[in-house]
Amino acid sequence: MSESTANPLNKINLLGMPRQKMIDFFADLGEKPFRAKQVMQWIHQYGVMDFDEMSNISKVLREKLKEIAIVQAPEITYQAISKDGTRKWLMKMPGGSSIETVLIPEGNRGTLCISSQIGCALDCSFCSTGKQGFNRNLSAEEIVGQIWNAIASFEDLDRTKDRPVTNVVMMGMGEPLLNFDNVMDSIDLMMDDFAYSISKRRVTISTAGVVPAIDKMNGLTDASLAISLHAPNDELRNQLVPVNKKYPIAMLLDSAKNYLSNLSDKRKATIEYTLLAGVNDRKVHADQLIELLKDFPCKINLIPFNPFPGSGYKKPSNTEVRCFQDWLTKAGYITTVRTTRGDDIDAACGQLVGLVEDKTRRSERYINLQQLNG
Ligand code: SAH
Repeated sequence: MSESTANPLNKINLLGMPRQKMIDFFADLGEKPFRAKQVMQWIHQYGVMDFDEMSNISKVLREKLKEIAIVQAPEITYQAISKDGTRKWLMKMPGGSSIETVLIPEGNRGTLCISSQIGCALDCSFCSTGKQGFNRNLSAEEIVGQIWNAIASFEDLDRTKDRPVTNVVMMGMGEPLLNFDNVMDSIDLMMDDFAYSISKRRVTISTAGVVPAIDKMNGLTDASLAISLHAPNDELRNQLVPVNKKYPIAMLLDSAKNYLSNLSDKRKATIEYTLLAGVNDRKVHADQLIELLKDFPCKINLIPFNPFPGSGYKKPSNTEVRCFQDWLTKAGYITTVRTTRGDDIDAACGQLVGLVEDKTRRSERYINLQQLNG
């Protein structure tokens, strides 16, 4: 349970509580399981936080709930809406750091990119979040609160039919699989019919490759998986994604393949591949990737590098990106290029920088490096 700005009595925040925990919570109050479902629907489907508005709950129970519990989402300190409809929020966490959440509307889909940690400890060489260091894990209510807030930002929403969030990707700040329990509780709520009711195919955990956690997901969840690969061989991946030194590519692909094969439907993983000019975007890299993934059920999503000051990397030209895509497509891989959305509000991948109060001194090292590099 996280402490919260307007929750001085440290009441239990019901926003991040998945169904079974909610049922247990009500059982402790001597209440039947259906109460849990009613309260979940009020919170997540009707967007109600005030117990007094939960009209099918008895007055006595409402008073009891007010004494011990609260429903509270993170505080929004900034909201921007791009020309293309992309929305971005900065949400302030107790302690002062901020995280970012982005909603990308596309036809009748709305993909919400949410954060799982304040900062990130993995330090991938081309990621601006990593450069800010790590502060702490987000609680389940802070993760789910991003969805709650995103939906609530639509005024005049007809909640019986409008669905501004149809897909959730854990591709904001942080490494979701290093915040395992809170992320599992959150995705449980995303997929729950009494909460957000999003299909398992449309909830995606994106990981840089925390292999033991992928193994642990088996049987616990059936969410979709995205692997941030970014390099076709261990030598290069060790430089770009340092966690690779601990869990090299073969181990990672094995673990992911095993997870996919345990799902009840035939599902592919998404391979994310950030294209860094001259580093991993040449023909030789495409050839290696084609060979590497030949027995791995996947589609490939290419992300042209989004530059940030002092990164030391360059974005490939559009022609170079197209070439790389063509090589993979011709080899039979479904390959998409992530288009940059919300450019005018700095909402693109890698620009999700939030404001992290670093607890690891990594940002300090980075600043020193930047000074050294002029
Ligand atoms: N830790 C998780 C999720 C975070 S980032 C993971 O690694 O998957 C979501 C994706 O954006 C990752 O694939 C990440 O490597 C990529 N990314 C980070 N910084 C980027 C940048 N500057 N340009 C393009 N993609 C970037």
